[in-house]
Amino acid sequence: MPFVHREHPELLRLQALLGGPRRCAIVTHYNPDGDAMGSSLGLAHILRAMGHTAQVVLPNAPPPFLRWMPGADGCIAADTAAERCRAAIAEADIVFCLDFNRPDRVGVLEEAVRAARQRVLIDHHQRPEIDAVAAFSDTASCATSQMVVDLVEALGQARLIGADAATCLYTGIMTDTGSFRFSSTTPHTLRVAALLMERGAVPDRIHAAVLDDHTEQRMRLMGFMLAERMTVLQDLGCVVLVLRAGDLQRFGFSAGDTEGFVNLGLSMRGIRLSAFFLERPDRIKISLRSKGTLPVDRLLADHFNGGGHVNAAGGHCEGPIDACVQRFMDLLPAHIQAHPA
Ligand code: 5GP
Ligand code: MN
Repeated sequence: MPFVHREHPELLRLQALLGGPRRCAIVTHYNPDGDAMGSSLGLAHILRAMGHTAQVVLPNAPPPFLRWMPGADGCIAADTAAERCRAAIAEADIVFCLDFNRPDRVGVLEEAVRAARQRVLIDHHQRPEIDAVAAFSDTASCATSQMVVDLVEALGQARLIGADAATCLYTGIMTDTGSFRFSSTTPHTLRVAALLMERGAVPDRIHAAVLDDHTEQRMRLMGFMLAERMTVLQDLGCVVLVLRAGDLQRFGFSAGDTEGFVNLGLSMRGIRLSAFFLERPDRIKISLRSKGTLPVDRLLADHFNGGGHVNAAGGHCEGPIDACVQRFMDLLPAHIQAHPA
């Protein structure tokens, strides 16, 4: 089912906001993933087709496997053009906040987003804390990109979804559902995907562009991690993957290379939680994935400055990495016992 209907009060507010040509900025989260990029670019294409202007503003640049997306070259990113990004947000009549739930998820753009004239939230993460004139939050939606399609349909503007928007939105749904396999995938998800296909999204090309374009270094780093840096806690049903700075250097790491690594742990028999620790220059990045009713967002919210969804969450902590991993390992048995399979 679509998450929104035609008489939804927030929808009526959004409709009024978009009553005349507006200057829109669309902001998404730090380290944008396929759904962040897909929902933002997809919405930008549709807003332009409605007669508005739309600028996608990113806290930092997307990884290489998302740079082919239609409109990606028109994004501005705060890691290279912070002042331009702040100006685009300040000048906008409406700032759309897509695929994030807390102001600190946009990094150095946090103050600019807080000071924006009007915010509209479209997001599917737990416990949204964004103050908005119209807030669309649905944790049951598999992707923010799916919510954008539902909203555009409820606004009666689905005819404006062209091939570029369809390609971006399909990419967002595909990546956030693990290629339509996570339990968040519903019959409605497949209907939305079918609509997007009818509008010009080409699944085999999108899947290949996102998933079959890895570098040799990335393949070798993945093999090394599985062989040398994986701890299997069979009794707890957990896998812990750790890549240190030296490992990354050895395999010529570049941003985005470890995307999807955390999911590898979950493909092993008997495993229902996979943890991935990545040592970056400024912080240790943590990714958790789980199966079934085992939640991971709260663990990261409570202990590692993070959050996300029940089965997929991220966070970070200060180094050193071994202390960070140890702290996590110490918390793990109680957490697993509190949520038996
Ligand atoms: P990933 O592990 O792919 O970085 O993130 C998994 C999910 O958790 C994504 O939906 C992402 O938006 C969310 N997430 C990742 N890092 C953070 C974080 O530091 N804080 C919060 N609140 N959510 C995060
Ligand atoms: Mn998402």
